[in-house]
Amino acid sequence: ARQSVLAAVTGPGATSDGHAVPLLANIGGPRDVDGALRYGAEGIGLYRTEFLFLDRASAPAEEEQTAAYLEVLNAFPGGRVTVRTLDAGADKPLAFLPPWGREPNPALGQRGLRLYEKHPEIMNAQLRALARASLQSTAKLQVMAPMVATQEEAARYVAACRDAGLPSAGVMIEIPSAALRASDLAAEVDFISIGTNDLAQYTFAADREVGTLTALHDPWQPALLDLVLMAVSGALEQGKPCGVCGEAAGDPVLACVLVGIGVTSLSMAPPALPAVRAALSLHSREQCLLAAQAALATTTPQEARGAARAHLPGLA
Ligand code: PEP
Ligand code: MG
Repeated sequence: ARQSVLAAVTGPGATSDGHAVPLLANIGGPRDVDGALRYGAEGIGLYRTEFLFLDRASAPAEEEQTAAYLEVLNAFPGGRVTVRTLDAGADKPLAFLPPWGREPNPALGQRGLRLYEKHPEIMNAQLRALARASLQSTAKLQVMAPMVATQEEAARYVAACRDAGLPSAGVMIEIPSAALRASDLAAEVDFISIGTNDLAQYTFAADREVGTLTALHDPWQPALLDLVLMAVSGALEQGKPCGVCGEAAGDPVLACVLVGIGVTSLSMAPPALPAVRAALSLHSREQCLLAAQAALATTTPQEARGAARAHLPGLA
């Protein structure tokens, strides 16, 4: 019994009936790798590369980027490392590029992937640096784009990744248009990752920086769950894996619901990993499915959580 408790705390993520759900970490750079390993991350599901680019007079050199990526890749030999290319703009302005401050609605402006159109040199340098790091490591590098809205954007991004020689290219689904057309996007990519933080912001027209709007950012909102279901269904229709890397993945009850919806991996802040691992290990895939169906049938976040919990005994 002691051994199984220990496995539930440190082993790979799986439901009680052995359905594997890789549990990955969200990190901001090499200095977060120790924490990810300490909490038993099986890999990285979201490496936010913005921190390499912020607060500096010019873009980081390719060599500097390669060194940072390699440090993260080398921490997970044989494992999966998902790097998100630069997601600047809005709340993350770049000091070395013309200011976004003049945009009336920065969250709806030239942010994320949209920046690459005007500054392809930034994206291409990053993709080259990533490809070089990948060649020097045994980790499985996956590269993904932030803030993708259309199939055309996904196709262009994947083409750039292939040109750079990258082994795996995907997109985040964090804009409702991308969730609505997830199958079209999935057809273009190797994998999908749902970012529930921005997906909530854009679905509820509620700025994530505005603290008084937290009720609308609740990942248990049934409309958000509907969009997650839509995104996952679109990905699975095309036979592509679909993870979640927004804060929603770190809630143990919601993690079970996401697995019930069909999500294939979960990525979260490292300290959330043990509780999610334990929650999954206590429940079967069937229980997760029933919890998901019950949550999706409700009309408020409170009811959704309550309905899910009824199928997941032992969770707070
Ligand atoms: C998200 O939007 O859910 C996400 C994971 O990305 P970030 O929080 O970095 O915007
Ligand atoms: Mg986001």
